[in-house]
Amino acid sequence: MPELPEVESIKRSLSSNIVGQKLENYKIYDHRTNRYNTRKPTIKESLSGISRKGKLLIFDFEHYSIIFHLGMSGRIQVNDKKNKHTRARFYFDKDTVNFDDIRRFGFINIIKAELKIDYLNKIGPDVLEISTKQSRIIIDKSKKSKSLIKDFILNQKYMSGIGNIYANEILFASRIHPETKVNTLSSNNWKDFFNNTKKIMRLAIKNNGTTLSDMTYFLPYGEFGSNQNFLKIYSKTNCFNCEHIIDKIYINQRATYFCRKCQKLKN
Ligand SMILES: [Zn+2]
Repeated sequence: MPELPEVESIKRSLSSNIVGQKLENYKIYDHRTNRYNTRKPTIKESLSGISRKGKLLIFDFEHYSIIFHLGMSGRIQVNDKKNKHTRARFYFDKDTVNFDDIRRFGFINIIKAELKIDYLNKIGPDVLEISTKQSRIIIDKSKKSKSLIKDFILNQKYMSGIGNIYANEILFASRIHPETKVNTLSSNNWKDFFNNTKKIMRLAIKNNGTTLSDMTYFLPYGEFGSNQNFLKIYSKTNCFNCEHIIDKIYINQRATYFCRKCQKLKN
């Protein structure tokens, strides 16, 4: 968390209000949040747009791009007071944008605008934008991989945007056991996977993302997402399809839910 739908929801909420405003000044208070920056360029420019790839949110200026990775608990707040979790503040001519991050896994990276394309090419295609050609490349890579499917789809170098909650949901919808070796998936498995990924991500965006009971995620103006009401497997006890008890295991320390009847392990 936050994953593609949450970052996209934040982007949409901010875009209609902040784009066009001039950045007057900014401060990054926390050295971990600032860990990839070697200097602090002066950026007195208008925000020309806000973009997103995978889980990255990007403020675009003429000469610079400010890249936000929200990590586990990062959030963007507009016109909120500075609090003990505020790691950076951006002072636009009308509004102030806070980057708050309780756990500090997130970061802010300020790069020259001309380096943005190369920077973003280091991660795999955004799962909402995957073309047929890109899906073939991903499947080819999967054939050479020894990973489990769940690890593979969480690895942002193959494809970007999926985090733990939606990985659980997508594999359940695709009837794929999360411990399936990725090199054993059939072309039909992959077809289901790509279709369900787009469907689940689009629904979650429509619902403004998933706010779990920990209330970590909310939108820049304080609203909560509602996609938690549409989850079918994550943190559930009984299967949405067959009512069988859901198994919970950990794969790479990440909570993994599956129905052993609907998601049979074929390895
Ligand atoms: Zn089931």
